[in-house]
Amino acid sequence: MMAPSMRSARPALSAWRRIPGPPRDLVRARLLRLYRGLLRRFGPQGWWPGRSPFEIAAGAILTQHTAWSQAARAVAALRARRLLSPRALAAAPEGVVAEAIRPAGTYRLKTRRLRGFTAWLLARFGGRFEGMRRAPLGPVRRELLAVPGLGPETVDAILLYAAGRPVFVADAYARRVLARHRLLARTADYETAREFVQAHLPSDPALFNELHALLVAVSKTYCRAIPLCAACPLRRDLAGRPPRL
Ligand code: SF4
Repeated sequence: MMAPSMRSARPALSAWRRIPGPPRDLVRARLLRLYRGLLRRFGPQGWWPGRSPFEIAAGAILTQHTAWSQAARAVAALRARRLLSPRALAAAPEGVVAEAIRPAGTYRLKTRRLRGFTAWLLARFGGRFEGMRRAPLGPVRRELLAVPGLGPETVDAILLYAAGRPVFVADAYARRVLARHRLLARTADYETAREFVQAHLPSDPALFNELHALLVAVSKTYCRAIPLCAACPLRRDLAGRPPRL
């Protein structure tokens, strides 16, 4: 039998219900609504195409300032020459790598970037992505940003898509949609946008992966220089207001 003193210490269920919980994150709710709307319209995007983490990382470097179709040709050429492993790429003469990746444009520069990343990966983790998956995220991101030619967008694409780390790739496509929906300032830079999304959404690599790919899809299909809002699956989120251009 319960002691009388214990019974009086337990508040009634109705009292618990009156205690206010933490404020609801309306931005999170909106972002998740946008995500679900895009997923319904476009389906899973299956990013990033690649047969191994190293191939994905190489693709992220090769697609800098280049359409993916051109970068994919360069990746295929590296694969055909059996250069898509850190040790093989590091051992290959620079001219051989440069010739293979010529379709990606600025191929001498990208050869140096690819080799710089590969040298870092070999020195830091023995060429294996397992270590990059387990290392503390902040320091490993800072180290990657110090590799010459790797900007935040490339680094975050490598961390997210090749290493499965929970970072959001806040590229120009993502920023354009979020700014047009007044979630971000029009002038928000890469870091501001990345931190904003990461602050409001669960720290989930699968969610960041799919959301980024879907924002690219909606940008290319509807949210172009002149937005096609009337046909866009995200038009309801504008709540009757014009997008902020
Ligand atoms: S096209 Fe219009 S509704 Fe669609 S994402 Fe862009 S601003 Fe939003």
